[in-house]
Amino acid sequence: MKFCFRTLFTIFFVFIFSFGFSQLKNNNDRPRLVVGIVVDQMRWDYLYKFYDRYGNDGFKRMLNEGFTAEITLIPYIPTYTAIGHSTIYTGSVPAIHGIAGNDFYIRETQKRMYCAQDDSVRGIGMDPDAKAGKMSPKNLLASTVTDELKLATDFKSKVIGVSLKDRGAILPAGHFADAAYWNVDGNWVSSSFYMKELPNYIQKFNKADHTGKYLNGKWETLYPINTYMNHVGDDNIYEEKYKNQKTGTFPIDLKAALKEEGRELIKATPFGNTVTLQLAKEIIANENMGKNPAGVPDFLAVSLSSTDYIGHQFAINSLKIEDTYLRLDKDLGEFFKYLDQQIGKGNYLVFLTADHGAAHNPQFIQDEGGNAGFWMRKDISAELDKQLTGQFGQQKLVYAIMNNQIFLDHKKIDSLKLDTEKIKETIVSFMKKQPGVAFAADMEKLNSSSLPEPIREMAINGYNYKRSGDIQLILEPQWYGYYGSKEGTTHGAWNPYDSHIPVVFMGWGIRHGNTHRTTHMTDIAPTVSALLHIQQPNGSIGSPIFEITD
Ligand SMILES: [Zn+2]
Repeated sequence: MKFCFRTLFTIFFVFIFSFGFSQLKNNNDRPRLVVGIVVDQMRWDYLYKFYDRYGNDGFKRMLNEGFTAEITLIPYIPTYTAIGHSTIYTGSVPAIHGIAGNDFYIRETQKRMYCAQDDSVRGIGMDPDAKAGKMSPKNLLASTVTDELKLATDFKSKVIGVSLKDRGAILPAGHFADAAYWNVDGNWVSSSFYMKELPNYIQKFNKADHTGKYLNGKWETLYPINTYMNHVGDDNIYEEKYKNQKTGTFPIDLKAALKEEGRELIKATPFGNTVTLQLAKEIIANENMGKNPAGVPDFLAVSLSSTDYIGHQFAINSLKIEDTYLRLDKDLGEFFKYLDQQIGKGNYLVFLTADHGAAHNPQFIQDEGGNAGFWMRKDISAELDKQLTGQFGQQKLVYAIMNNQIFLDHKKIDSLKLDTEKIKETIVSFMKKQPGVAFAADMEKLNSSSLPEPIREMAINGYNYKRSGDIQLILEPQWYGYYGSKEGTTHGAWNPYDSHIPVVFMGWGIRHGNTHRTTHMTDIAPTVSALLHIQQPNGSIGSPIFEITD
């Protein structure tokens, strides 16, 4: 009896020990490679708007094999590229991570700062003194999930960012990245923050001039043109033509446009995405990504920017946007097949999301009978200046209206000992009366403002005292600031068309499914952290999407 009891006891402990051990082994299990894909300006509804037109290997494969968080919202304003990329990778918001716009003003110096600007570094693979190369992540104040992966694996994981846009490559790759590559005049470049010279394979890739090949050809529709959306037609008033084009219709003569626009033109064609994914494959192969010992994943952060340039230029109901997504779908399909071969199906984790969406062209909405408009920033700001000059006896107390925020000239106001509170009150009451303005609120008093709760929270999250303006403007739905053209479109607002983004995870450890629970852009980094068993980024305010991680 005694013996029997002891045996049982031993068996029990062996069982507990081996169970615990297998759990531990399981917990250290990680994918070989993580690929983050940001599709710049991809509205959530593009997953379904073009669903029937997609092939089986790209977006459809992600939806059919992966897990989709259908209602993922951006929890801050303004909804711009640099902030989106920063938030996806930090799980944080401008109030904390400090990227308050693509550009912002530093309160202390009142100097304009570009999100990735770093005058202490120089360009690599380009004119070292050109502005386009003086880039690093130093303005990003919080760690990224890619930084945390480096810390978790004792810097053994390789982290590389790639995008046509510097900010799309640099901010996701974080502070400890091995490299970030972006595109200037059709060539892939980096900065001295990362390296002394471009690796041989990048130089070779540049020499092969894939960009030039595309730009010396035509952009034709991928499928017969009569199968495309036809409500606004191929040639319509809502899109801005490339320079040197008589009509806006397919096939588009890129060679003619190239003469006028230069090689930067690649960014505003779907082939900009094609070349980016081509380079992504080269990076994976040449850097041996995904080939570390188990438990040490590498991370490739890809951002596809052409969708944004094309959306801005041609607006969202154009055949150009439809063709761009059909081509991207095909490119993604080929990219996933490459990952299957190179890393092995099930060995890599991929997630796809967007930094923001886009509005409809306001003229289009007006023509269809909806409320929309262009907010005439210059005229209104001149009117405002008149009003302030009349009341306070000083011109130009406002030195910028940017990111839908009004920046006060605090240096001037302080030196003249004017009443800041009075000035702000005057601006708020003036702005509220302007057509197209739904709300104007003092950033320091957002909590007591009359903003509806979700928008108030977005404004608070977006407000960084040192880098944001003093007064937040909220425009009516489908209104945006006039930027010199009534063609094309833009983004930046709180509304669902700008703030509802796709989030799809696929591959390693991901089961098929979806959730319609409301989740947020800030949940992406904590979800990746949970899947990899690494610490959440140090400014993260999100929560793992438990339907994916459990
Ligand atoms: Zn944009």
